[in-house]
Amino acid sequence: AASGAAGTAQAIRLRRNGGPEVLELAQVEVGEPGPGEARVRNHAIGVNFIDVYFRTGLYPQPLPGGLGQEGAGVVEAVGPGVEHVKPGDRVAYAARPNGAYSTLRVMPAEVLVRLPDDIGFEEGAAMLLQGLTVQYLFRQTYELKAGDTVLFHAAAGGVGLIACQWARALGVNLIGTVGSNDKAALARQHGAAHVINYNTEDVVQRVLEITDGARVPVVYDSVGKDTFARSLDCLRPRGLMVSFGNSSGAVPPFSLSELTGRGSLYITRPTLDSYAFDRASLEAMAADLFGMVSSGRIDIEINQRFALADAAEAHRALEARRTTGKTILLP
Ligand code: NDP
Repeated sequence: AASGAAGTAQAIRLRRNGGPEVLELAQVEVGEPGPGEARVRNHAIGVNFIDVYFRTGLYPQPLPGGLGQEGAGVVEAVGPGVEHVKPGDRVAYAARPNGAYSTLRVMPAEVLVRLPDDIGFEEGAAMLLQGLTVQYLFRQTYELKAGDTVLFHAAAGGVGLIACQWARALGVNLIGTVGSNDKAALARQHGAAHVINYNTEDVVQRVLEITDGARVPVVYDSVGKDTFARSLDCLRPRGLMVSFGNSSGAVPPFSLSELTGRGSLYITRPTLDSYAFDRASLEAMAADLFGMVSSGRIDIEINQRFALADAAEAHRALEARRTTGKTILLP
């Protein structure tokens, strides 16, 4: 094919911010990769809550634009200067720029990770973003050790079910919060030592009971607005608040004296790209994750599959809290 005629893709395009209905399937031309780029044929696409933030505009991006940060597929072509992947390689990725909701795309090659032979495309697209997140949360943001007790919100979600299993593998007592009794059972099956239904139970009271009044050294909170204040109340003095998402809305501004009153608390607001910031970090984190999955210690639960054209339905399910584990799109 002549340059620029590499193919036509079906891709979800975003012309304006809004509800799921702004996700439109369009035909786009995909050309040859330029320097540092690769053309990837997606075989499976990961849906993540961050896609909702970009769709609504909570996180801004230039429009019109693509959506989606995670996929797995095959490299079709690489541009000048790309050494670590070649045509035919099976790869996965979990990074910006948005544009994973598509059958074929040209993208920066530096974010591509080669998939081990024993990991399929669906599994690859289902594990990388959320699995690398748990890797850095548990191994880097705070280095968990056997016997630690931690609080982890939304434990039956995509990040959550990986976190439950990773905690079990480390010998960590994970107290997971969930929004229903079915989700409680699921989190427990995946290794949560204790589960709290935060719609019906008092989280702080339950954490005090479970820890004999000691509270926890670290809270992982991706729910944001609805849980933030109570999460601080669950921390022991000098504990670490890890605020890593906003599924219920952004955390409102708060005063530093909130940290003083509870005893010199620490707080961090981490993002995956500040941990997987170069090839060496990305490769090391991915190797850790793939090892956990290949050895059977972590099972990737793909509990919802949608056609790419039905991305809006996938978003509706995710936002309505009707999903558990991972949601993927199939091109
Ligand atoms: P999930 O599969 O966990 O879905 C979100 C879950 O949050 C829901 O299932 C629901 O579980 C819970 N929730 C609580 N309140 C609400 C609400 N008002 N609306 C919707 N859901 C709510 O999503 P992901 O696994 O994709 O992501 C989990 C979180 O982690 C997100 O906040 C995401 O942004 C964040 N994240 C952050 C990263 C980082 O590096 N900073 C990287 C990856 C994810 P329940 O019904 O049990 O309450």
